[in-house]
Amino acid sequence: MELIEALDRELRRLDEQSLRRRRRTADTPCAPRVQVDGRAMLAFCSNDYLGLAAHPRLVEALREGATRYGVGSGGSHLISGHSRAHELLEERLAAFLAPNLEAARAMYFSTGYMANVGVLTALADRDADIFSESLNHASLIDGARMSRANVKVYPHADLRLLEDGLAASTAKTKLVVTDSVFSMDGDLAPLPDLLALCERHGAWLVVDDAHGFGVLGTHGRGALEHFGLRSPYLIYIGTLGKAAGVGGAFVAAHATVIDWLLQRARPYIYTTASAPALAHALLASLDLIDGEEGRMRRMRLQALRAQFHNSLALRRWKLLPSHTAIQPVVIGPNDEALKAAAALHEQGFWVPAIRPPTVPVGTARLRVTLSAAHTAEEVTQLAEALNRLERMN
Ligand SMILES: *Cc1c(COP(=O)(O)O)cnc(C)c1O
Repeated sequence: MELIEALDRELRRLDEQSLRRRRRTADTPCAPRVQVDGRAMLAFCSNDYLGLAAHPRLVEALREGATRYGVGSGGSHLISGHSRAHELLEERLAAFLAPNLEAARAMYFSTGYMANVGVLTALADRDADIFSESLNHASLIDGARMSRANVKVYPHADLRLLEDGLAASTAKTKLVVTDSVFSMDGDLAPLPDLLALCERHGAWLVVDDAHGFGVLGTHGRGALEHFGLRSPYLIYIGTLGKAAGVGGAFVAAHATVIDWLLQRARPYIYTTASAPALAHALLASLDLIDGEEGRMRRMRLQALRAQFHNSLALRRWKLLPSHTAIQPVVIGPNDEALKAAAALHEQGFWVPAIRPPTVPVGTARLRVTLSAAHTAEEVTQLAEALNRLERMN
């Protein structure tokens, strides 16, 4: 069939450019030591930054949630699927974020992708201007496109060009949209300066804290706590499938913003509410994040990060200067990055190679992610394997 043949040709082209993506199948829970496609591996690739994804207390809370609420929600939030567990989770998140947001209210979405698309399409329309950071996550890019707003991409962390754009904008609604921790580089957006710009120019600041929530800040409240920010101009998105170890995401903002999202965010309105048991498990996760155990795990993650930096001795490859759990080693060409990932795999390390279009052409990299569940010994093993590999190439 001709249509199939055309797709096959495209797939072969991806093969030729080392761009064809494949999945590996894990047989064990998300943890540093995993069984993948039947092989024991040491994983440095999950976003389970605090090591909570298989925490016994969360497993128990999920079981308890299923017993109490059943499995399926049976409907969308606005019809019949909004359960007490969802409601309690939103109240808990709002209370948690209250130090950083005025009149804080929170709304739980099934995924971060949906939360980002929901926020941007609900707040921006054809007449709005969206100022989007150039390294933003795909879900923010898609949300901006779907809103049909006038999208202006500003270069990474370039506040001067952003300020010019904001000053020149005559749109009634202006949004500045940014990741807080850039997912492929691990660096932080200059949020205090961005917020000052937004307040000066009457623009919303939409912050996607997928990699900061749970990890940054003394209490794990994320990037806003890290920088000590508080403002009604902030619209904060945290995902709950990364450090929180479960799944879903939330938007926290001024209560009026949340009320508006409830009316207009299509990825929230036109989808079945996620299993209430997940929300129940997330309450237990927030207890951990907010408590002593969370604090210990955040400190441990920082210690491992410092150790990884100190154990690496690279000449051509480049470890990006990241202060988060995301520790990218930039290699350059796609095939060399793939070869490095394959060689690591041979040695039992699971580290993904990230290639264009996820990162700019010529900056293919190994994306090492650390977790509080790693041991110091495991981190040293990886650093030494990388040192050896680079010299062999
Ligand atoms: C993972 C991620 C998302 C998407 O969140 P999901 O809950 O996985 O859909 C959004 N933004 C950023 C920056 C992310 O890293």
